[in-house]
Amino acid sequence: PAVALAVLASACGSSEKTVDTQATSGDNTGALVGVTMPTKSSERWIHDGDNVKAGLEKLGYKVDLQYAENDIPTQVNQIENQITKGAKLLIIASIDGTAITTQLQEAADKKIPVIAYDRLIRNSPNVDYYATFDNFKVGVQQATSLLVGLKLKNEDGSDGSAKGPFNIELFGGSPDDNNATFFFNGAMSVLQPLIDNKTLVVKSGQTDFKTVAILRWDPATAQKRMEDLLTKTYSGGTKVDGVLSPYDGLSIGILSALKSNGYGTADQPYPIVTGQDAELASVKSIIAGEQYSTIYKDTRQLADVTVKMADSVLKGATPEVNNTKDYDNGNKVVPSYLLEPVIVNKTNYQKEVVDTGYYTQAQLGG
Ligand code: BGC
Repeated sequence: PAVALAVLASACGSSEKTVDTQATSGDNTGALVGVTMPTKSSERWIHDGDNVKAGLEKLGYKVDLQYAENDIPTQVNQIENQITKGAKLLIIASIDGTAITTQLQEAADKKIPVIAYDRLIRNSPNVDYYATFDNFKVGVQQATSLLVGLKLKNEDGSDGSAKGPFNIELFGGSPDDNNATFFFNGAMSVLQPLIDNKTLVVKSGQTDFKTVAILRWDPATAQKRMEDLLTKTYSGGTKVDGVLSPYDGLSIGILSALKSNGYGTADQPYPIVTGQDAELASVKSIIAGEQYSTIYKDTRQLADVTVKMADSVLKGATPEVNNTKDYDNGNKVVPSYLLEPVIVNKTNYQKEVVDTGYYTQAQLGG
C-alpha cells in the first residue's frame, strides 16, 4: 500500500510529500520528544527547558531534556542519543547553528521532524519549523532604548532633549548563533544613520560585527573587551556615554569593567547599557540604576508556541506559523512563528515582568 500511495501521490503531482506526512502521522500518543538546550549558564535556557518539558508532558509526551554547557560535541552526542532512543521529534536550541547537519540528516532519514528553538539551525534542508522572537526587532529595540537612555529620542519616537555627540561602543553576540547577526543588523539599522551624521561616535572605530562579536556570549570575554576599550580608547579622560550590549550576561561583564574603571559614582555615572532576556540579576541592576534596559522575551510564550507546534506535527497536522520569508537558513526558508519582544527599563519593569508573573516582587528584592 505504501508503494501504491507513492505512485498515487506522484500521479497527482504532489511528489513524496504525501508519503512523508503519512509517515509522521502514525500514532504518536505518549511518544518521546528530544529537547536540547545550549547551556545552564544563563537562566533563560533553564526556564526554556523546564517550560517546554512541562508543556509536552502535560500533553502526555515523554521528554528527554539535555543541556550541553556550550560544548558542540556534547550537543551533537545528545542529539544522536535521542535519535537512538527513538525520539519521534526533536526540538533544538543549537550552540553552533551550522554544526549539526549530519545529525539532522540522520533524523530526516528516520522521518523525525525537527523544530529549531529560538536559534535558527543553518545549512540544512532538514529543519521543519522555527519558533523564536522577532530577532531583527530585538536589535531595533536595543538601539532604540540606547537612544532613549541618551535622551536623543523620547519613548514615543519624537526627538529628545539631547543633541549629542555621544561616545558609544558596540558589542555583538556569538558569531555562530544566527540570532546574533539579526540583533546586530537590527540595531545598526537604527544607529548607523546617527553614526554617519556624527551624533554618535564609536570612538574605538570598531563597528564591524566580526570585530565586536563575543564568542559563545561569554560574559568574561565581554568584560575583557570593555576593559581593553577603556584602557586603549578612553584613557585620556574622554567618557563613554553608551554601550550597545546584546545580552544581559554581557551587560553584567561590561558594567563590572566600567566599575573598576571608576564609573558608577555620582560624579561619573554609568553609561547607558542595554541588554536582553530580562535575567533576574539584570532586572535588579536596572532597578538599582546600573544597567539601563533589557529586552524581555517571555520564554513561557516561546515554550507554549513550540509545544503546540510539536503537538501538531506529531499529530500529522500543519502547525500555525506567521512568517515564511525572513528565516532563510542557507538551504531553505524555514516556516517560522515569531513572538514580540518588549523593551524593559526602570519605568515599566513592574508592569512587564512583575504583573505578568514572570518574577515575583520578592525575587526582585521586595
Ligand atoms: C538568544 C538570546 C540570548 C542569547 C545568549 C540568543 O540566541 O536569542 O535571548 O540572550 O542567545 O544566550
